[in-house]
Formats: sequence, structure tokens, C-alpha cells
Amino acid sequence: MHTHTTPSAALDRRALSDFRALAGRIDGNGPRYTSYPTADRFHGGLDESAYHAALADCRAAAPAPLSLYLHIPFCENICYYCGCNKVITRDHGRSAKYVSYLGREMALTAAHLGGRRQVLQSHWGGGTPTFLNPAEMRRVMASLHEHFDLPADGEHSIEIDPRRVDFERMALLAELGFNRVSLGVQDFDPEVQQAIHRIQPFEETRAVVDASRELGFRSVSLDLIYGLPHQTTARFNATVERVLTLRPDRLSVYSYAHLPHVFKPQRRIDENALPSAGEKLDILVSTIERLTAAGYVYIGMDHFALPDDDLAVAQREGRLQRNFQGYSTHAGYDQLGFGISAIGAVAGRYVQSARTLDDYYAALDAGRLPVMRGFTMASDDRLRREIIGALMCNGVLDIAQIEARHGIDFASTFAAELADLDRLGADGLVRREPGRIEVTMLGRLLVRRVAMVFDRYLREDAARPPAAQPAANDGAQPVRFVPRYSRVV
Ligand code: SF4
Repeated sequence: MHTHTTPSAALDRRALSDFRALAGRIDGNGPRYTSYPTADRFHGGLDESAYHAALADCRAAAPAPLSLYLHIPFCENICYYCGCNKVITRDHGRSAKYVSYLGREMALTAAHLGGRRQVLQSHWGGGTPTFLNPAEMRRVMASLHEHFDLPADGEHSIEIDPRRVDFERMALLAELGFNRVSLGVQDFDPEVQQAIHRIQPFEETRAVVDASRELGFRSVSLDLIYGLPHQTTARFNATVERVLTLRPDRLSVYSYAHLPHVFKPQRRIDENALPSAGEKLDILVSTIERLTAAGYVYIGMDHFALPDDDLAVAQREGRLQRNFQGYSTHAGYDQLGFGISAIGAVAGRYVQSARTLDDYYAALDAGRLPVMRGFTMASDDRLRREIIGALMCNGVLDIAQIEARHGIDFASTFAAELADLDRLGADGLVRREPGRIEVTMLGRLLVRRVAMVFDRYLREDAARPPAAQPAANDGAQPVRFVPRYSRVV
């Protein structure tokens, strides 16, 4: 048995300089693989009856614990970089209606599960979950408790817009059982904030972080975005220094993808003010250097954590996983999604809900679950999902284990993939040893590229003549190859 070489060690300078050198040649962009197959492969063929069947299978697997995602789409103001599914409004009449429909959706779903199930991981995302007023939050939580058990020692997290909460609101979140918070920051520079239409003074964010600590939240996570207008390496470094004074347990540093043809709000961003590709790379490298020097572990895919944080510990022990919320220590559970555009993963099926409020309400008014599309995984999908997960999360693939679990011969099943992997190996991204594939330090910085080798659907796209390739995106579907930054409230 090989010793597990932990990928959690600090990134070395050599890997970072190799990364710089390769950046022009190897594109580090690609799917984030919060699911495999990726959400853009979901289709309308998976309908409500298929979801019923999935829920029946999930019911048969009781008492296995569940994970749950709840989408609150409302925001008071638009951030110009936004690529999320949200509804801009100040009208709380709209959220009151939404809250009551969320209750209906939970009741319908729970009826199919045939009893109260334990939810060990829950996450409220958006939009802006803290758009809901205290009474609305209590109602949503009451609906959850009516249909599910949410033990206090589970992971219960919520995305917070620091501009919209005060100490009292944070105290309410603690009272409601949330024990992890994730705060959208993006950048503290006033000029950048103005250009993205998100004015958020440092003091405001600090007050929320202080409140979280005082109230005993187990983990505080901050989101930054690089590649925004007016950012330079020096300016972003200043933001990073201020962030370090807050010492969040986790940090996400997302890349901004400027796609104004897909995401309308981005048309209000001045393209001439965007940093060049070279500057953007510089910002990323110096951020990684600074954060790792400050003691953060590079988890991978834009994520950093303090060494004693659950994510870093799970990665050291080789049991980190991915789900729709990104890296997780609980990803093995079936996940239920509630609210518009929410994605669930239930008994080998992915299910996504209607994207608009109208469709969502209409389905529930008719007593139907609001399924819009989804995907039923075949055994090949499960196999590849496991491989991609192992490479992305723990940086190592144990071939004998995969062969035993899936009853395959790895070398003959993945001959084409191994040839591609060897090309990445020549560039130093992976190391192949008898019985295992290991992602190097450099490879971890380009891990999407490594994972893409095992994506059957990308391979099929590439093999097709250009005319037969998928049509340009009209904004209704997630974009392929584009790093998403969905947790940026
Ligand atoms: S970035 Fe977040 S807070 Fe801003 S508009 Fe989009 S969903 Fe709302």
C-alpha cells in the first residue's frame, strides 16, 4: 500500500512559477464538477415521475441521512458581475409568497419520503437568503422542522450579504440553528466596489465577522472575486491583507468570467477597466502565495481553509468530496433541492427545479413537484464521477480500488484517457505510478484540466464535427467551461 502523499502541504514556489509558465498554453478553466455529469447535460426527459421514482428509492434507503439545499432568489440590488439566478426586488410581498410555496414543496417532497428524515447538512443560498425578514426566516425554518430532523450538530450554513444584516439578525441565525456562515465580499477597494455596484465598507463586513465569532458560529467563510474592473495585483493584495485581519476559517477566491452576452448585468461593466489576462494571473498567483504564507491550506479549485478546518482535515485524511455547494465532508448523502433552480441529487438522479417563479408556482399550484430537468446516471457516469471526485478532492486515484468497486479493467476502459493524462504528465500536472494516479502541486492549480480528461461528454463533443457541436448559450443554461461563482451574495 502506498503512503498517501497529502496534497494539503503548502504550495511550493516552483509549482507556482511552473503554473505561470504554463498558463498561456494550458487553460485552467473548465467545469467546476460540483456534479458529474455537469448541469448543462441535464435534460427535460427527466420529469416529475422520474423524480418520484428517485424519491421512492431514497425512501427505501432510509434511515440514511440527507443533505438539503434551499434557494432564496431575491436581492435588493444588482451586482454587475452577477451570474446567479436571482430576482431583483424590494417588495417583501414577493418573498412572503415564495416562503409559503417553499413550505408546500417541502410537504410534497417529504410525503414521498414517507417520514421524517435526518438532515445532517443544509445550506441556504441565493440570491440573498438574508433578504427574507426575520418572520419569513422563522417560517422557512419551521417548515423544515415540520418535515425533517435537523440535529444541532449537523452542518447548517447560510450565505450572508454583510450589507443586509446586523447583530440582531446574526443572533437570529444562531437561534435558528445555523452554525456556519459564508459572507460575500469580492473586493474592499472602493473604486472596484463602485464599478461592480456593490458598496460594502470593510467595517460593515468586520462587524458581521465579529458577531459570528461572538455568537459561536463554528465556521466563517469569505468569498472574494478576482478579475473585476480596476483590480490590480497591488490593490487586490490590499484586500487580501484586510481579509487576513479577519482570519476567516475558509476563503473562496473565484475568477470573474466576463460574459455579457450570457449574463445581462455584466453589460454594465466597463470592459476597458478589466485587468488583462496576465494581470489576472498575477493576482491569482500572489493571492495564493500570500494566503499559503499566512497559514491557509490550498484545498483546490479556488478554495482555502485554515489547517484545523473540517475541509482541510478531511482532505488530509483523503475523505474530501464534492457536491453542489463545492467541497464538502458530507457529499455522500442524497441531496434535496428546494426553491427555483435548486438542484437535488437523489438515488442516482440529478433533478433541477423550474428556473422562474411563475413556473415554480404553477407546478406547486397543480400539486406537482416543480421538476424542470435532470439526469439519470448510468454506471459509466457513476464510475467517472468517482474518478473526477477523487482527483479533484484528494488529488489521488487508487486504481485497484476503482477496479474492484466498479468491476472494470482500468487500463482498457480508459486507454484514450490515459494517453491524454500522459500528455498532462509530460507538463508535470500528474504522476502515474503503478496502481495510482496522483495530481501534482502544479496539477492542483489546473485540476479542472485534469478532471476534464475523464469527462465522457466533453470527449464526445470534441469528437463531433464543429457544426454538430452544441449551440451557443442563450443564458437559459449554465455555461460550459466557465468557472461559476455562484456563492457570491
Ligand atoms: S451577486 Fe449575489 S447579491 Fe449580487 S445580485 Fe447576484 S445573487 Fe444578488
